[in-house]
Amino acid sequence: MRDIMKTTPVPSIQCKKCGTVFPPHPKTKGTWICPHCQAENPNLKRHYRSVADLCILGLVFVLVVLAMRIYQAKVGLADLFMAADAVLLLVTIVCIYKAQAPWANRVIQRLIWIVFGVAFAVNVFVPLLAHGTIDYHRAFSVSARFVVYLVIFGYLFWLQVQARKCAVTTGDTATLSA
Ligand SMILES: [Zn+2]
Repeated sequence: MRDIMKTTPVPSIQCKKCGTVFPPHPKTKGTWICPHCQAENPNLKRHYRSVADLCILGLVFVLVVLAMRIYQAKVGLADLFMAADAVLLLVTIVCIYKAQAPWANRVIQRLIWIVFGVAFAVNVFVPLLAHGTIDYHRAFSVSARFVVYLVIFGYLFWLQVQARKCAVTTGDTATLSA
């Protein structure tokens, strides 16, 4: 059993119920079933990819707004910030898609919090501060965005907790012997 652990470069997870370390099926879209206790572990690869897809959506949005502003020749300091944000989003997307085990990658987890933190600041916090008077329409728009981000942050937090539970930290935690 120890030999299997040594020779398999495939990413593994630790069952959150019984602690068995096993390589999840690389292609499945469903949950990762533990070979020892049959517990259903969340398909972390798929979850991290859906976070990356949210980033792709954000990147498209940023690029469209940026292109519009360049077209209207309204380029300013904010556009430099947007360009930097686009690069950050792109790096995050590429990192998640290239990683064998994004759930065990601390850099990816930090990038995700930074990217969504920036998005929250720009879409909720700044519009709230930028206008002294808040009319009904703006209040509704900002509240709606706030709720959306609340849901996203709830999901990111849940994902982080799952990743912590399932990430294989050290090789010697393997309890493959049943
Ligand atoms: Zn298990």
